[in-house]
Amino acid sequence: MTDYLSDLEIAKRSKIRPISSIAEEAGIPVGAVEPYGFYKAKIDTTKIKSQPTGKVVLVTAMSPTPAGEGKSTVTVGLSDAFRQLGDNVMVALREPSLGPVFGMKGGATGGGYAQVLPMEEINLHFNGDLHAITTANNALAAFIDNHIYQGNALNIDPRRISWKRVLDMNDRALREVVIGLGGPFKGVPREDGFDITVASEIMAVFCLSRDIHDLKENIAKMTIGYTYDKQPVTVKDLGVEGALALILKDAIKPNLVQTIEGTPALIHGGPFANIAHGCNSIIATNTARRLADVVVTESGFGSDLGAEKFMDIKARRAGLEPAAIVVVATIRALKMHGGVLKEQLKAEDVEAVKRGIVNLEKHLQNLQQFGVEPVVALNAFVTDTAEEVQAVKDWCADRSIKIALTEVWEKGGAGGVELARLVKEVMADKQDFRPLYELELPVEEKIRTVVQKIYGGDNVVFSDSAKKQLKTIIDNGWDHYPVCMAKTQYSFTDDPKKLGRPTGFEITIRELIPKTGAGFIVALTGDIMTMPGLPKQPAALNMDIDADGHAVGLF
Ligand code: ADP
Repeated sequence: MTDYLSDLEIAKRSKIRPISSIAEEAGIPVGAVEPYGFYKAKIDTTKIKSQPTGKVVLVTAMSPTPAGEGKSTVTVGLSDAFRQLGDNVMVALREPSLGPVFGMKGGATGGGYAQVLPMEEINLHFNGDLHAITTANNALAAFIDNHIYQGNALNIDPRRISWKRVLDMNDRALREVVIGLGGPFKGVPREDGFDITVASEIMAVFCLSRDIHDLKENIAKMTIGYTYDKQPVTVKDLGVEGALALILKDAIKPNLVQTIEGTPALIHGGPFANIAHGCNSIIATNTARRLADVVVTESGFGSDLGAEKFMDIKARRAGLEPAAIVVVATIRALKMHGGVLKEQLKAEDVEAVKRGIVNLEKHLQNLQQFGVEPVVALNAFVTDTAEEVQAVKDWCADRSIKIALTEVWEKGGAGGVELARLVKEVMADKQDFRPLYELELPVEEKIRTVVQKIYGGDNVVFSDSAKKQLKTIIDNGWDHYPVCMAKTQYSFTDDPKKLGRPTGFEITIRELIPKTGAGFIVALTGDIMTMPGLPKQPAALNMDIDADGHAVGLF
């Protein structure tokens, strides 16, 4: 069998252009480009005057396997394909978190010949945005503890502080900690905990704000806990929104890079879709829409997570509508949903593909509920057989669903031209986009709508603490917010082992957490953790640095 180069090897051998030349081609005024080295730049969006009129193509996926289904790969490859067809296109992606980079899933820069460059830097610290978000989050934690230590004028109840510290790493040992130990001069002891940075409300606010001023206003509205009289305490009460916005003043500018084929890419903001809202920043998407006619963007994991939140949270806030939606499917994921074990995925099994297609079917029906016609991108792997691929094509043909075998991993943009043509057909038709639910519905009804219409479940059960939290949400007038479901990405249910298209299940809402700065209510289901752990064999074990100081083993 042919030996394939790793993502890192392909990236290293690719020719990269100076960022000034990419910016010029993208029509970005010279004065708006702030270079970070030779190949990356931050963009001062206040210096771009055009309106956001570009059409948005959203890339989502079926329920993924643990390795990912190639959503970022297809997003990048599709943008290159549009460029090959002569369109003025940009791609807008999320920033990688070091948690998955060192853990299991890998980076977020695409793969094969459909990657963004410089992948090594983007996957490691990039331009420091995640560090800035971590710092802003933890500065707020420090301000809260200092306020209590200095006399607690706001009467904050240390047992009811909901603001946690964060770290951009999978570190299960920090999920629950006790701080302030060591006597009266070391602080006031209390229970605390760490989340991963991508779950921080600052990350959500960062991705949902229009500009730095809107960011400051939204930060001011964040609730950090409650007083002894159970009244909410906000950042505004502490008076530190200005300082926190200041920490983020450079991070808030989107990052310009390029694909292997030279398509301009904006990479900015990176909440996970299983524990947060899963979309890149509104600032980046709308900046791309001001510069390009077509913007290809992705939302995390399957249609049940990232895409639902894209429609119900991001699109509403950004005032945008997807003009087309691509659903990435793979033969290996279809086989897994058809009951094949991970170790046996390489062997041909047409019947398993046919059994597993129920999972893809549900994702397609989900997207149709938003009024936009989905197109299937069957991301080709070398292990796929012709019969397996034909089975998926036949299934789609029987239902008049557009499908393209997508070979961007192997061939770059050329492998996505058929997909791009189908997407353009959909874009040429008027779509009837609508969010899934109205914001006026009661919170329980919003959650029930997502569970029944998107997950295919029968009912929702609220734990006792979720019921109490619901009362607090209603009492404080926060019930008009959309919901941000936190659920496993592997299953439509809250149990990651239930693959395919399960029916007759209930979803338990363990906790309801109001995020009054981001403007949504997080509903935690099942065992989902806002601080993941590392696997037994973390990807970190394969990594090293070569004699020239470059990365080795970074996927
Ligand atoms: P997702 O966005 O769905 O998480 P990615 O695009 O990040 O997935 O891809 C995950 C990994 O899978 C990457 O290392 C990428 O190189 C690899 N990959 C993606 N598509 C293919 C393919 N068609 N063949 C082989 N490997 C692929």
